[in-house]
Amino acid sequence: MSQQEFLTSVQNFIDNAISHIDLTEGLAERIAQCNSTYSVRFGVKLRGRIYSFQGWRSVHSEHIEPVKGGIRYDPDANHDEVEALAALMSLKCALVNVPFGGSKGALKINPADWSEDELEKITRRFTQELARRDLIHPGRNVPAPDMGTGEREMAWMADEFRRSGRSDAINQAACVTGKPVARGGIEGRVEATGRGLQYALKSYLAHPDTAPVAGQKDIAGLSVVVQGFGNVGYHAAKFLQEDGARIVGIVEHDVAIFDDAGFDVDAVAAFRAETGSVGNFPGAETVPSAQGLTYKAADILIPAAKENAITADNCEDVNYELIVEAANGPVTAEAEECLTRRGIIILPDLYVNAGGVVVSYFEWVKNITHLPFGLMDKRQNIMSGSAVVSALEEIAGRPLPDTQRSKIARDTREIDVVRSGLEEIMVRAFDEIMERKKTLGNATLRTAAYVVTIARIAEYYRAIGL
Ligand code: GLU
Repeated sequence: MSQQEFLTSVQNFIDNAISHIDLTEGLAERIAQCNSTYSVRFGVKLRGRIYSFQGWRSVHSEHIEPVKGGIRYDPDANHDEVEALAALMSLKCALVNVPFGGSKGALKINPADWSEDELEKITRRFTQELARRDLIHPGRNVPAPDMGTGEREMAWMADEFRRSGRSDAINQAACVTGKPVARGGIEGRVEATGRGLQYALKSYLAHPDTAPVAGQKDIAGLSVVVQGFGNVGYHAAKFLQEDGARIVGIVEHDVAIFDDAGFDVDAVAAFRAETGSVGNFPGAETVPSAQGLTYKAADILIPAAKENAITADNCEDVNYELIVEAANGPVTAEAEECLTRRGIIILPDLYVNAGGVVVSYFEWVKNITHLPFGLMDKRQNIMSGSAVVSALEEIAGRPLPDTQRSKIARDTREIDVVRSGLEEIMVRAFDEIMERKKTLGNATLRTAAYVVTIARIAEYYRAIGL
């Protein structure tokens, strides 16, 4: 499936949801289309010659500013993909109710082809191009990490933006999120998308109206295959393993590995760091990557790589009960019909992977308020927590066990506040999806999620008289 079809898939999902909502004429089109996509080619002098690079930043919807979304570094990046991903950003922000419009960017580059110094030069040059058009700006457009980028690139971008002097000095740090903690980032941003997925799956299982997975409503013991072992796949697998799931398969771009007993996720990550691949991990069965998704049945599949992982070509051969979409657009509209017919449930991307942008929102708020989370009431919480612990111990006539003591004592660290805020948002969004689903007959979770978010975006437009 081409990128053009990915864009069409997202638009089909939007159109399908719009058909369930009563919208003013023309508003549907307004919501579905990308407002603008800036395309740039620039040259950077490297290795004694000039190399050309191509990049994009697409703004889907400016119903709220700033607009928000990651920048990916990927040799296969292209205009249509960036537009589809920008649309998904608008939808996911509105779904979880964070006050951003949607945007997305990409640079057509394979980071592995360049040294760190070279990547820094290229990133800084791209940042200058974006800054000139306010496509990076604390109040207008706030990039973040995505595939192929991380804290390092965000630190370069923030620094280059600061040098450009294009916003008030006091707000400059808020021009990108996903920065290192020492450069204005926030605890828990790196793990955020994986953590959000964990909360999403827990919300699904905890809800009284959802179907059980493998006959149970609890993560412990479920078997899971993860496709993509980057930041999102790794953290999702790690957290589900901590909850007692068995990670029985890891499908990477080069090979796939399987072990029915379940992997120790950190051991696989350490092995990959040492050898460059998960292939031949001791005790595992190694098979070609192309067979990975269909090789074995499991309770859950987590596609955490790229769009179009499950298409009309392989949808009849995948055997899972639940697909939890960590990547953006991993199941095409056509494949979704086939999976739904086969009774496979899909927890959709715009909900599942929203954890990244939620914690980006916390980081952005921290940057513009200049106040770390948890600071102001930290002492007070510790004091009142200790008072409760002492009172309970006096009544009980014995010390409380440490686990209970630490729950009550409430030493609120930034990471605790971030996780608790994220969990609250994920639980609430799932409840809203399920509420809406009740009104839609036998609609899929994706349709229900799209209807929630599009109705919300339409509200914003209506409020300004459109
Ligand atoms: N790249 C992530 C996403 O697609 C995060 C975006 C952000 O934090 O702004 O959701």
